Amino acid sequence: MGRVVLVTGGSRGIGRATALAFRDAGDTVIVASRGGDSPDGLPAVAMDVTNTASVEAAFDAIEADHGPVEVLVANAGITRDTLLMRMSDDDIDAVMQTNLVGVIRCARRSLRGMLKAKKGRIILVSSVVWGMGSAGQVNYAAAKAGLVGMARSLAREVGSRNITVNVVAPGFVDTEMTQGLPEERKQEILAQVPLGRYATANEVAGSIVFLASAEASYITGAIVPVDGGLGMGH
Ligand code: NDP
Repeated sequence: MGRVVLVTGGSRGIGRATALAFRDAGDTVIVASRGGDSPDGLPAVAMDVTNTASVEAAFDAIEADHGPVEVLVANAGITRDTLLMRMSDDDIDAVMQTNLVGVIRCARRSLRGMLKAKKGRIILVSSVVWGMGSAGQVNYAAAKAGLVGMARSLAREVGSRNITVNVVAPGFVDTEMTQGLPEERKQEILAQVPLGRYATANEVAGSIVFLASAEASYITGAIVPVDGGLGMGH
């Protein structure tokens, strides 16, 4: 389709699968991460979403090399799980800065090109815990819930400019982020998932690509759950 697509956190996991899916659909995909890694040979930029100057510099470089970003997939995220009583200021700040403020920064910067082009797609990667909550993830769930308010506000701001803003809310996905969980916790989680298994990163990528497609042109401010039924009712 020949669009310029930026996937933050595109060097592994869900972001990597998403980048490959857009590439296979014919788009020009740039992957961004702190490390600037490009395991599949896609164009890559080093970007730390917690730092405005780094976000600016990365977008400047993308625009110079490829043109303005038409599709932003704000996927970069981290966890710093522990009970709130034990959560440090750094655990709170790092997760809020990466998973919420970083997304706002990237969306704000991407709007420059999208407003001029009078078209664009912004897709935010939240989590099923945005609505269900999750013990041990007060920082993470707060940031992921914040993305919903952000998406819906921005969808209202830019709808008239042919820019859509949507949220994908994955359940448990088999990536490095979840591979570190203790076996007992994994089994507890699986027992609550109606489909009885984790998602693959490709299953999440499919919904992200759909939200950027022509078929999704009238969808904005929506939350698409990709959670095997875990979040039903939330
Ligand atoms: P991974 O840990 O596998 O990958 C995270 C990616 O984000 C990496 O590319 C990493 O690269 C990048 N990243 C982290 N911090 C920053 C930063 N400050 N600036 C730029 N890039 C950064 O995660 P997943 O693929 O599992 O998760 C992707 C998204 O999906 C996250 O937002 C996560 O919260 C969400 N999610 C994941 C679920 C799961 O079960 N895995 C479930 C629900 C939601 P680098 O370290 O080089 O910066």
